[in-house]
Amino acid sequence: MKKALTIAGSDSSGGAGIQADLKTFSAHGVFGMSVITAITAQNTQGVFAVQDISPEMIGRQIDAIFDDIDVDALKIGMVSVTDTIKVIAEKLQEYHFSQIVLDPVMISKSGYSLLQPEAGEALIKYLLPLAMVVTPNIPEAEVITGLHIETLADMKKAAKAIHDLGAANVLIKGGHMEDDATDILFDGEKYLEYPGRRIDTKHTHGTGCTLSSSITANIARGIPVERAVEQSKRYITTAIEHSLAIGKGVGPTHHFY
Ligand code: PLP
Repeated sequence: MKKALTIAGSDSSGGAGIQADLKTFSAHGVFGMSVITAITAQNTQGVFAVQDISPEMIGRQIDAIFDDIDVDALKIGMVSVTDTIKVIAEKLQEYHFSQIVLDPVMISKSGYSLLQPEAGEALIKYLLPLAMVVTPNIPEAEVITGLHIETLADMKKAAKAIHDLGAANVLIKGGHMEDDATDILFDGEKYLEYPGRRIDTKHTHGTGCTLSSSITANIARGIPVERAVEQSKRYITTAIEHSLAIGKGVGPTHHFY
């Protein structure tokens, strides 16, 4: 069985973070493992508190897995602080691991900052160059590049700029655009467009986590990046179509294959 790891934060309500990642791995028939970077007290209405796990404990979790188990692919989600980012980067270089999907998580849909502002620079400096695929949404791509994104042409320009920062493949997600949610993938040579219908639902909690963990699972299964992204786009579209009206706020996506 293929094995995938998520290095990310816990969402107590089960819709995003580690919980979404592990559900997604299972739905793809991949064995899931987790390194927890932070614990959030969170539900469908918001994030109420965050406790970061110490960088040392994060390093110990990574060691425990890599000393024992062959990981086929991993994703990095919420990383919170600079020292956490540094320890993750150091460990992944130490283990010469390159099958890395980076979801540059910054702010939750409910508006809570999940990455300390000064840690943004560390994420760009230490983690972006390690990424086989990075999956920013439009606001994240704007923070990383300093560009203002309004059109598909702007998305392509941002994808190139992020590639220049060292990520091998850049997937900019169009979910925040006005009309259709077209995603752009840039591999350093060509741009691919993945058109997507806009689904009329407010229940989209955890969509970014789910898409990046689906791509991770597909890469773990040996599927090349272009096709992994295509299949994962289909997966997230179905997961949003069947999203669940759980709780009083923004409900989670539904995981099944
Ligand atoms: N909580 C955790 C731990 C996350 O990693 C993320 C996103 O990656 C979120 C919350 C935010 O989820 P959303 O913006 O989909 O509500």
